[in-house]
Amino acid sequence: MSTSTRNLSKLKKAARIILVGPPGCGKGTQSGRLLDHFKLTPISSGDLLRENVRNRTPLGIQAETVMRSGGLVQDSLMVKLIVGELSKRGWVETRGNLTSGICLTGPLSIIGGPITPRASDSPTASFLLDGFPRTKNQAQSLDSEVAMNLVVNLNVPHDVILDRIANRLVHEPSGRIYNMTWNKPKNPGVDDVTGEPLTRRPDDSPETFSKRLKSYAEVTEPLLEHYDRAGVLWTVSGSTSDEITPQLDAEILKRFG
Ligand code: ATP
Ligand code: MG
Repeated sequence: MSTSTRNLSKLKKAARIILVGPPGCGKGTQSGRLLDHFKLTPISSGDLLRENVRNRTPLGIQAETVMRSGGLVQDSLMVKLIVGELSKRGWVETRGNLTSGICLTGPLSIIGGPITPRASDSPTASFLLDGFPRTKNQAQSLDSEVAMNLVVNLNVPHDVILDRIANRLVHEPSGRIYNMTWNKPKNPGVDDVTGEPLTRRPDDSPETFSKRLKSYAEVTEPLLEHYDRAGVLWTVSGSTSDEITPQLDAEILKRFG
């Protein structure tokens, strides 16, 4: 959908939001709800990567092994992928050679030259990042493209996260997430919308998952301090996504409504 036709009437100015939190904390779930409630378009680095893996793009082929092992994909590739996506949608204006060998969600035209940041203040330029940035380098690259104005730290108890991952199923093409205990699909094993099969993420195995948690604590969590210093950090706590959603909605209305 083009930015000009998106209904963002609840928002009076551009919301440029990052969701940060350990794997399994419910970033994907909250993204889906913010899309419903505010038409805030999510850009999920994990979903984009999985799309590249499915389409066997050069980036996907390169990323696949790292992802399966629970490691982090190289910063330069991630920046190309995400900044390319933002610039394609007109949310940042970038001139550079960004996109060779990467599958974005549609056509992208980029002219040569140095990278220049610019972001619109119009609510139609609102968007949400899920899973990016995850390292200091990625955060610095993003800072040089666009000033994000809200970083949400999703604070969910550790044991809840472990339990969720053990019961998680996904519809890969859409990124829709189900849980075998509290958010079951209407029909077992298939997606509610398309009827296509649900799968387990290959990186949700217990060993790989604990590696992802560790990498979050060591590499990504320190970014919170960076955004706190920039004055844009806000923390929300809860044991279920349903506890978190109303708090998040209220904060977004308070800041951007
Ligand atoms: P969950 O989706 O359960 O919340 P997550 O946030 O760890 O967990 P994704 O965001 O889907 O999972 O990412 C899956 C994998 O993709 C990561 O483990 C990593 O290998 C790779 N990846 C995603 N985003 C990035 C990033 N910004 N930098 C480097 N690697 C990334
Ligand atoms: Mg995710």
